[in-house]
Amino acid sequence: MKKTLVLLTALIGLPLALAFIVPNEKRRTAAVGSLVGLDDHLKAAFTAGEDFQPIPKPGGMDWLATRKEPGQTYRQFLESRPNKPGANGRKFIYLQPVGDFPDDAPSLETLREYMEAYFHPMPVKLSKKVTVKKTGKIRRRGEQINSTDLLDALQKRVPHDAHVMMGVTMADLYPGDGWNFVFGVARLKKRCGVFSFARYGIKEDKKKALLRALKVISHETGHAFGIKHCIHHHCLMNGSNSLPETDRAPLHFCPVCLRKIHWGLKFDPSTRYQKLEEFLIKNDFPGEAKWFGERAKVTEK
Ligand SMILES: [Zn+2]
Ligand SMILES: [Zn+2]
Repeated sequence: MKKTLVLLTALIGLPLALAFIVPNEKRRTAAVGSLVGLDDHLKAAFTAGEDFQPIPKPGGMDWLATRKEPGQTYRQFLESRPNKPGANGRKFIYLQPVGDFPDDAPSLETLREYMEAYFHPMPVKLSKKVTVKKTGKIRRRGEQINSTDLLDALQKRVPHDAHVMMGVTMADLYPGDGWNFVFGVARLKKRCGVFSFARYGIKEDKKKALLRALKVISHETGHAFGIKHCIHHHCLMNGSNSLPETDRAPLHFCPVCLRKIHWGLKFDPSTRYQKLEEFLIKNDFPGEAKWFGERAKVTEK
């Protein structure tokens, strides 16, 4: 059976009143794993201090109020045997546009630049657009495209030198009957995912829509790097049931998730933070840029 992780879902189902207990500081620190023997700048990168907040207590229709999620410590991440970036010549991230991108859609080059900073030092390539035929194997429901079928098709196109290939589309996606829509889906081991910007409110607020796109693109790619939903800190890898929940989430990885991508990418944390700061200043997100700039200083060698 194919294992598809449905990442960001429509508002369906009822709150299960699951008693999620916010991990205390001891558990949050333990989830990062032992830092013994690491250089000081890496110890600083993987220590929460005051720059990271615990995950907020979920309420209402929040992700953790509606589903039971075990989380994933750094050790559990290693035990899951994630794909090693760069192994077998797989040294690129590909952004694969699907269908048309009108003028008011997020700029693909901006997304590419952001991804290259976020997953530094892995280069990010923008692939040539592919189209989904109206009549074909990929199921449709009105204007919506079936994300499972689309992912099946994209999976066959993953380039041999891709660590991951992320499809992006302006078309609305639905994963199957019983679902209204889905923001995105990814397959952890199959190195691919796809997500839609159809519901980001581009017409109402272009900048807010871009920030949502940035969050989702890096969240989904994080999954393709083998990272599961974060239950420790308020973190980009937190699950989300809705746009307001995505809006509340920060743009950064917490120390637990940061250590997971660092395992494969081996970047210098301060350099990565600086690149993100530069991108965010250039694209007029001063609040987010400030946080990354401060972390760049804390994690300097
Ligand atoms: Zn997710
Ligand atoms: Zn995290």
